[in-house]
Amino acid sequence: MINPHASALTQLDQVATLLAKQYADPQKFKQAITKLKQPERLIEGEIQIKLDSGQTKTFKAYRCQHNHARGPYKGGIRFHPNVTKEEIMALSTWMTWKCAVTSIPYGGSKGGVVVDPKTLSPRELQALSRAYVGLVADHIGAWQDVPAPDVNTNGQIMAWMVDEYQQILAAKGLFQENPLAAFTGKPLTLGGSEGREEATGLGGVIVLHELARKLNLLPGTTTIAVQGFGNVGYWFARHAHLLGYKIVALSDSHGGVVNYQGIDPIKALEEKKLHHPLTALGEKITNQELLELDVTVVVPAALENVITKDNAAKLKTKYIIEMANGPVTPEADAILQAQGIMSVPDVLANAGGVTTSYFEWVQNLQGYAWTKEEVLAKLKPLMVKAFDEAWCLNQELKVSMRMATYATAVKRVVDAMILRGQV
Ligand code: NAD
Repeated sequence: MINPHASALTQLDQVATLLAKQYADPQKFKQAITKLKQPERLIEGEIQIKLDSGQTKTFKAYRCQHNHARGPYKGGIRFHPNVTKEEIMALSTWMTWKCAVTSIPYGGSKGGVVVDPKTLSPRELQALSRAYVGLVADHIGAWQDVPAPDVNTNGQIMAWMVDEYQQILAAKGLFQENPLAAFTGKPLTLGGSEGREEATGLGGVIVLHELARKLNLLPGTTTIAVQGFGNVGYWFARHAHLLGYKIVALSDSHGGVVNYQGIDPIKALEEKKLHHPLTALGEKITNQELLELDVTVVVPAALENVITKDNAAKLKTKYIIEMANGPVTPEADAILQAQGIMSVPDVLANAGGVTTSYFEWVQNLQGYAWTKEEVLAKLKPLMVKAFDEAWCLNQELKVSMRMATYATAVKRVVDAMILRGQV
């Protein structure tokens, strides 16, 4: 069983070795790295709801706030039976790096409840969402910690949560100028942002296009296999297809298809809605086979830990764009590097999501909504800059894109801690 927090700490140690030489005061740098190994706050509690049956049920819940040297904490809330403290701690650490990668002014956090939400009625789900806010209300807010949807949570859940948060503030006689800015990923009518739905996929394609430019890859001859045809996978495939890249394989939880003539993602979505599964589009393959296809780019856009020490050596691709969170295990990463496969890490490739959440927060604080075109136009320069910075370090120091991206991010956080006099 992989301990995700141990993986996050191993990565941090590797990056620290790379960065140490750049600091005039090694003691301060060391202190900052030591601090970054633990979250600043871990809220761990039990929340209770009344089930429709009349019985009371208790659920374990967490909110982990990793570091806020660069701004308020930011991170999603997941509802999943496999949520653990270590997972939430690791995810909050990765959120610190992800926010630093695109230079948005946040630190990292993450929350979770150990629950299978499919077993709950809509009323019970609402009660659970409100109870979660009750647990963390004193430590969240537009300038403290801004939650968002994650696995199995969505705009409706954010709407219940923001409502509960406002009620809690009102009951305490507290006034906050714009409580809508305390949550992102909200429905449009409650201050959500235009463009948020497609932002993560589009952000990944901006990264893909920059990579292709650096490597002189032509879209028409660049073949792509996308694992996971949900929100991120669909929008990635759609924007890549629009730029002329050749999507040759797609999959969902039922399996995948390959078609070297190319697959139109819009048609694939229609097909999926009508006939589910995707098999009418090409030759049937498994999710494992999809990862092992001889294509230019493999895009894991579904689950974590899908490329492991057991299958990494079988990959034939040259590039991986990590759209899912944590799709490559640390052991697999070493194997991929030895094979000369470049992996653009999740904290860069899928940062378009949190960057657009930041835009939602800015709009809420301004009380002014931007158009979708404005939102997506603002996303591009931030993603291009983040990619360029990592690429330059990758070329200069001859380290992997993962190390280069982490080094850029960790340096920004350490610099903020030193400037504040925290170490
Ligand atoms: P989603 O639920 O919309 O889609 C997930 C897709 O993966 C579905 O098509 C599902 O059928 C498929 N899937 C499930 N199990 C699978 C399996 N075993 N093999 C292959 N496919 C499988 O989720 P999403 O929002 O698209 O998120 C996908 C990934 O991207 C997650 O790792 C998520 O944490 C990450 N991510 C999402 C966002 C975002 O803005 N939505 C932002 C950053 C990171």
